[in-house]
Amino acid sequence: MEVELKEMSSDLETLKRSLPDPSHHASIDKMQLRVQHLTNLAESAPVRRSKVKDMSAEVVDSNPYSRLMALQRMGIVQNYERIREFSVAIVGIGGVGSVAAEMLTRCGIGRLLLYDYDKVELANMNRLFFRPEQVGMTKTDAAVQTLSDINPDVALESYTLNITTLQGFETFMSSLKNKTFCPSEEGSGVDLVLSCVDNYEARMVVNQACNELNQTWMESGVSEDAVSGHIQLLVPGETACFACAPPLVVASGVDERTLKREGVCAASLPTTMGYNALKDFFPTMEMKPNPQCSNAACLERQKEYILAKPARDAAAKAKEKEVSAIEGPVHDDNEWNISVVDDSELVTADIRSSDALPEGLVRELPSADEFHKPTSPQETINPVDDLEDLRKQLDALNAD
Ligand SMILES: [Zn+2]
Repeated sequence: MEVELKEMSSDLETLKRSLPDPSHHASIDKMQLRVQHLTNLAESAPVRRSKVKDMSAEVVDSNPYSRLMALQRMGIVQNYERIREFSVAIVGIGGVGSVAAEMLTRCGIGRLLLYDYDKVELANMNRLFFRPEQVGMTKTDAAVQTLSDINPDVALESYTLNITTLQGFETFMSSLKNKTFCPSEEGSGVDLVLSCVDNYEARMVVNQACNELNQTWMESGVSEDAVSGHIQLLVPGETACFACAPPLVVASGVDERTLKREGVCAASLPTTMGYNALKDFFPTMEMKPNPQCSNAACLERQKEYILAKPARDAAAKAKEKEVSAIEGPVHDDNEWNISVVDDSELVTADIRSSDALPEGLVRELPSADEFHKPTSPQETINPVDDLEDLRKQLDALNAD
């Protein structure tokens, strides 16, 4: 663009010189000024950051990974840079999928595989991520555009396809199996599949693929009223698959399209159990796989899981021993004379410190611990007397 603008500017200069009448020069000068303004704008357009070869922990404003690498210093992760070896597949780039993709990109995940067949619409602007100028683009292409700007280090793969079609499923499977990104990896070519789709049919397809590939995946959903949702971790053979305990819609074979209510966001589901934002209630539960699951691949994974149990137990025991052998005292010398205090002592100390109010302040309500003081024996009411009293009162009422 800058090149075209420069050419236009020189064309205007030539035109000005070729015009003998100086009265025309003023309008050409004006046009030249406009071109200059556009050139300045083009030059100040944001430049994409260059790729970073190694993640650095250096604390400088220009380091895109300084905040993330700090997790190592804080002892939260041992080797943050390993994130670059991981691949995550996100199926459905909607309200949930696009945000998951953005967060993983900002964290510097190694590779993201994005699947969707929809296009960006103005109606999507109620949510995060997509922008009005991306209307008409496929969601996967728009996502790649935004994500590669945010972090060019992430390898992005865009698949504009519908996984519920025969051909779509085949491409989906082969892309998950592709191991060129991390050839040494065991299992499939990705580490995690995130299902962020809006219908059960697609969920069953992700379930099928992950059962066949023995691939761990996470399922997510948002309720019709948009204030609750659910997340489910599915480890083939170990936990229930999506077909082990199918939602009623799937089990009864009802066409889910008939369940959508007019005017309700088409992406949300009629029923969802899980987090309720209005009540701030997040129940969790574990579901074992169903030995009578209708999915053949699930049954196969269940069998493998049971067969591998003795080896798994032995490995866990060995690891436990190893850890206890390695873990000696953390600090041999105690320079600061730090000692472990009994929990009960700690509690009383806490109460005392919270009891002390700054000068001039008085407590209006009794403090919490006063409520727990056992009532003195004189104050306790004899339950039998109390009942007798009530009966008398009732009799008196009845007599009226
Ligand atoms: Zn199952």
